Amino acid sequence: MKLSLAEISNIFPENLGAAKEELLIIEEVMTDSRKYARKGLFVPIVGERFDGHEFLKDAINHGAIASFWQEDKERPSFLPNDFPLYIVKDTTAALQTLAKYYLQKIKPIVIGITGSNGKTTTKDLVSSVLQTNFKTHQTKGNFNNHIGLPLTILTMPEETEVVILEMGMNNFGEIALLSKIAEPDIAVITNIGEAHIEFLGDRTGIAKAKLEMIEGLRSNGKLIVDGDEPLLQGIPNHIAVIRCGFNEDNDLVIRNVQFEVGSHFFQINGEKYELPLLGRHNVKNASYAIAVGRTLGLSEEQIKTGLKEIKLTGMRLEQAEGKNGALIINDAYNASPTSMKAAVETIKDFDEYSRKVVVLGDMFELGANEEELHRSVAEKITPPITDLITVGEKASWISDEVRKRGTSISVYSFLRKEEALPFIIELLSKDVVILFKASRGAKLEFLVDACRKED
Ligand code: ATP
Ligand code: MG
Repeated sequence: MKLSLAEISNIFPENLGAAKEELLIIEEVMTDSRKYARKGLFVPIVGERFDGHEFLKDAINHGAIASFWQEDKERPSFLPNDFPLYIVKDTTAALQTLAKYYLQKIKPIVIGITGSNGKTTTKDLVSSVLQTNFKTHQTKGNFNNHIGLPLTILTMPEETEVVILEMGMNNFGEIALLSKIAEPDIAVITNIGEAHIEFLGDRTGIAKAKLEMIEGLRSNGKLIVDGDEPLLQGIPNHIAVIRCGFNEDNDLVIRNVQFEVGSHFFQINGEKYELPLLGRHNVKNASYAIAVGRTLGLSEEQIKTGLKEIKLTGMRLEQAEGKNGALIINDAYNASPTSMKAAVETIKDFDEYSRKVVVLGDMFELGANEEELHRSVAEKITPPITDLITVGEKASWISDEVRKRGTSISVYSFLRKEEALPFIIELLSKDVVILFKASRGAKLEFLVDACRKED
């Protein structure tokens, strides 16, 4: 990435200090003063716990050659005259403005991806498909909010042809903001679940918040959505929509889904695809990537190759070898009721393992209905699943509900991971496939790591 200080001065005319002759180009934008940046522009973010303005000295020691500075903050006294300081109203907003400027300068095709579940997976799938034909740049990890998204844009190499941006949210207005920064040519809404229902009221509220995506969508842009979701039907007529899903009235209809060890095989409009991922929901995520690929004129061969070579960001339905020949399915990265149910369904496909064990932990941020939402997972805990193990206080609602419904499934509940561990280790054998799923905060990877086969 390269931006001249002259360009930055054009956008933020109020500045102090003239840059040295040899330091006129910024090569990195930095918000973390502890990490080294080459010719960095420091953006001190004012957060809930920390104020970046306190760390300017540290940032300079780590490569900053210029900095933003919020107008209401006391000016630093130690600065030499040749260190440019751009005085802005709000440093976070300035970061967003700069990202938008850089995007308009490089002019890549922009793809924005939101939804309650499956954003990162879909981003990975779209990237994998588009990499067969374009120079792509994409969100790393989960850098999907009002700071992560501009930083993703500002790390984009100048030769980028397509940028793929994950957009996350907790509340109304957030997707509108991200969409207006990115101005996507193609936007994807993966699904409407229950995540963050605490702030958004109900699923209708969630759908409304996701549809804020339209606000920044280019006038000739395309919106790709989960066509099986009734709440995504009432989209204004002037928006070009591509509906993907299993229902026959969709634009891209997924048919003949088959699962064989580790891979899904399916068809869309007569074309056959292979997806080396677990989880029927991932077939739908793949259909979004196919829709994006087709929209951008890729050949079916390129799309098929991209899907076949997918590498996911860690801990999402990852398969691993467990102790005593057991197969571990690690989906402990995060959870909401929708994604937990989807993950539970995937384990039912493993015909070659006679004992199918599901380990579920607490789900957080579910608001007033958290008990009901945990209990709702019980509807999926049915044969061929053989054992349910819950870990944590909230997760015990699930085991309670399964017991109440009276099934043939063995149910065990533990309040603490440490108590569950010896029990789980004991049951691992070559007949066992075992799924782990919980919210990030439940830290279930403690159990997953302990169950892994030693090298
Ligand atoms: P986050 O909000 O943490 O960024 P995300 O939207 O990026 O999540 P992923 O990380 O791709 O989502 O997947 C999270 C979980 O959601 C997966 O573990 C999977 O079980 C589930 N999931 C993925 N895609 C779908 C889908 N289309 N519908 C329902 N559940 C899904
Ligand atoms: Mg994500």
